[in-house]
Amino acid sequence: LRRLAMKSTAASAAMTPLTQMLAACALSAVIALALWQSSGSGQTVGSFVAFVTAMLMLIAPIKHLSEVANPITRGLAALERGLELLDQTPVELSGRHRTDRADGLIEFEQVEVRYRPDPDAAPALDGLSLQIGPGQSVALVGPSGSGKTTLVNLLPRFVRHTAGNVLLDGVPLEDWNLANLRQQFALVSQDVVMLNDSVAANVALGHPEGLDRDRVLVCLRAAHLGPWLATLPEGLDTALGHNAHTLSGGQRQRLAIARALYKDAPILILDEATSALDTESERLVQEALARLMLGRTTLVIAHRLSTVERCDRIVVMAQGRIVEAGDHASLLAAGGLYARLYQGGFAETP
Ligand code: ADP
Ligand code: MG
Repeated sequence: LRRLAMKSTAASAAMTPLTQMLAACALSAVIALALWQSSGSGQTVGSFVAFVTAMLMLIAPIKHLSEVANPITRGLAALERGLELLDQTPVELSGRHRTDRADGLIEFEQVEVRYRPDPDAAPALDGLSLQIGPGQSVALVGPSGSGKTTLVNLLPRFVRHTAGNVLLDGVPLEDWNLANLRQQFALVSQDVVMLNDSVAANVALGHPEGLDRDRVLVCLRAAHLGPWLATLPEGLDTALGHNAHTLSGGQRQRLAIARALYKDAPILILDEATSALDTESERLVQEALARLMLGRTTLVIAHRLSTVERCDRIVVMAQGRIVEAGDHASLLAAGGLYARLYQGGFAETP
C-alpha cells in the first residue's frame, strides 16, 4: 500500500507542474503570434482582448487533464499486483475420472506428507498405509500433531502427498476430476464456515442446480434444528449474518451436519466435530451424527469415547504413523497408547 501511495503521489505531483508549464508555453506562443499579427494587419484592441480571453479559458480543461493521470497510475499499480497474485496461485491439476457416486473404498499406500522440503524435518505422515472398505467407519485417535487432520485432508486434495499413493475406488486421486472428487466428500469440522446468507442457502451450499426447500427442512430436522428453526423470525429465509456469529457452537455444528446431510455424499469426514460442545448439545449432535454416518464410509477424528466406540475400527496414530488398530476392547486389553489415551480421557487429546 505504501509503494502504491508513493507511486500515485509522485505521479500526481509530477503531472501538475508539467501540464501547467506546457499550458504556459503554449499560451505565450499564441500571444506572441497574435501580437506579431496585429502589428502587421492593424487589428483592433477589442479583437485582441477577445482572442486572449478565449485562450485563457483553455487553461482550466488542460489542468483537468493532469487529474486523469492519478487514477490511471493507481489502476496500473493495482493491476500489476493482481497479475503477480495470479502468477503465484498454482494451477490445480485435475484428471479425467468421473463418477456419479463413489463406492467409498479408500486406500492409503505408504503415504508420506512433508509440509516443508527440509529433509531433516519429520514428515507429517510417514509411510502410512490404511484401507477402508465401502460403508466402513474408522475412528482416528492420537495425540495432537500426530497427523490425523493431515490424513483426512489428503482425500479432498486439500493437502498433497509427497510420496506413496492415495486411491479412491481403486483410482489414484490425481486421476480424478477435482470437482467430481470433492463431490464425493462431506466434511464436518471444528471450524464451520457459514456464509452471510439465508439458512436455506447455507444448508444447500454448493448445489447450484436449485434449492430444494423441503429437503432443507428435512435435513434441518434430522440435525435436531427443528425447534431452533421455529424460533427464527423468517424461518428458512432468516439471514445468518457474518459467519453466523449469532449461533451457539452446538447450533453451528448441527447446521454443518444438516449441510452434510443435504449433500448426501458417499464419504463422510468428521474432524473433531463434537469438540467444544456442552453436554446437552453434544447429545443432540451425537444423534444427528449417528444418522449422518448411516451407510456411508466415514472417517472420524474424535476425542469422545461415545463417537469412537460406534466405529467399526479404531486406528491409533502417533508421529505420522499408525501404532495400533483394532476395536475398543482389544485395544484396551493390549494396554498400549490407546489404553493410555483412554485412561487420560479423550477430551484432553484433540
Ligand atoms: P493432528 O490433527 O493429529 O493434531 P495435524 O495433521 O494437524 O495433526 O499435524 C501434523 C503435523 O503437521 C504437526 O506437526 C503440524 O505441526 C504439521 N502441520 C500441519 N499442518 C501444517 C501446515 N499447513 N504447514 C506446516 N506444517 C503443518
Ligand atoms: Mg487436527
